[in-house]
Amino acid sequence: MLLPLQKGILYGPVHSRRYGRSLGINLMPGRFKLCSFNCIYCHYGWTKTCTMDVTGHTDEMPAIGEVLAAVEPAVRSNVEFDLITFSGNGEPTLYPGFAELVAEVVRLRDLYRPFVSIALLSNATGLQNQAVRDCVGRLDLPVFKLDAGTVETFHRMNRPADDIEFDELVELLASIPKINLQTVMVDGEQANTTHAEIQAYSEKVGRIRPKEVHMYSIDRPTPDTGITLVPPQRLLEIAAQVEDSTGVPVRTFGARG
Ligand code: SF4
Repeated sequence: MLLPLQKGILYGPVHSRRYGRSLGINLMPGRFKLCSFNCIYCHYGWTKTCTMDVTGHTDEMPAIGEVLAAVEPAVRSNVEFDLITFSGNGEPTLYPGFAELVAEVVRLRDLYRPFVSIALLSNATGLQNQAVRDCVGRLDLPVFKLDAGTVETFHRMNRPADDIEFDELVELLASIPKINLQTVMVDGEQANTTHAEIQAYSEKVGRIRPKEVHMYSIDRPTPDTGITLVPPQRLLEIAAQVEDSTGVPVRTFGARG
């Protein structure tokens, strides 16, 4: 079964296999996934609203004051979590005022829970916005998606909205220091694990030079049924190959349980 959409602003804390106990912040509508990608493995399923232009949907998004009114009691509470993560039903950086909100959440964290990290899980398309680019440095754990090394694989894996250029995203990622990349590897009809794909992908990782790559395979049902899990041993081999050719540390994460 695919995951149900998050209905509210906060969710969790959920136990992330990559990052620990995470309190999620969902800035997108509760009724549908609003994203600039429509990834073949997205655990929220397909969306009909795959766009960079969210102007027609802002009335279904929480106002900044509503988000802060949810976050403040959570950071002042006794509920345990290791990080606060901007994620949720789509692409968080499409939220109008995202940079302003990050500054406010950082302020609340500094005030009430300075030992907690603030993370962003993003597909990188919001980096086209200068304000979003400028706020990335305020985050403790900015993590951006890169699942492909070529335009063709990018379109196959991520099914982006019109006018999103793969090479432009790579250059935007390369322009920001100290980011992390997250990569989903899949086998099956849509595999991104062939020798040629991994070579092309490694070239992009080398160009971006992130702090780390976080690599994993699918562990939940996916909207595209033609993809399969990459076995852990194969994932380790790919990680070693990418690490060898780029010098960038690659951490792999296995299936749940
Ligand atoms: S970017 Fe994230 S939310 Fe958007 S379709 Fe891909 S996996 Fe789903």
